[in-house]
Amino acid sequence: MGLFAGTPFDRPAVCEHCDRPEAECICPPPLRQVVPPEKQTLRLALEKRKKGKMVTVIRDLAPEPDVQAELLTKLKTLCGAGGTLREGTLEIQGEHLHRVQEALRKLGYRIRG
Ligand SMILES: [Zn+2]
Repeated sequence: MGLFAGTPFDRPAVCEHCDRPEAECICPPPLRQVVPPEKQTLRLALEKRKKGKMVTVIRDLAPEPDVQAELLTKLKTLCGAGGTLREGTLEIQGEHLHRVQEALRKLGYRIRG
């Protein structure tokens, strides 16, 4: 039941891309970013891991696993480094603070600190 069910605002769910009822939607599943980058303020940090290895950490991403995974892939390619996604926090191996910061800004994210 939608929020407006039973009110004059109630109407069948229609795909916003192809205008078909959702049951007949023919669109490929979109990568939905519910919270746009401009609405997100991320925190970047360099942290030391075991054996003195440095990692570049990106925190405060919206909890959207698909978007986070795609972003991780982009940043890994950009930095030519490995990386992981851990409970919504991105980690890129090595010191790439500046490069990551620029890339995120270009995508529209805000950066804190
Ligand atoms: Zn559709």
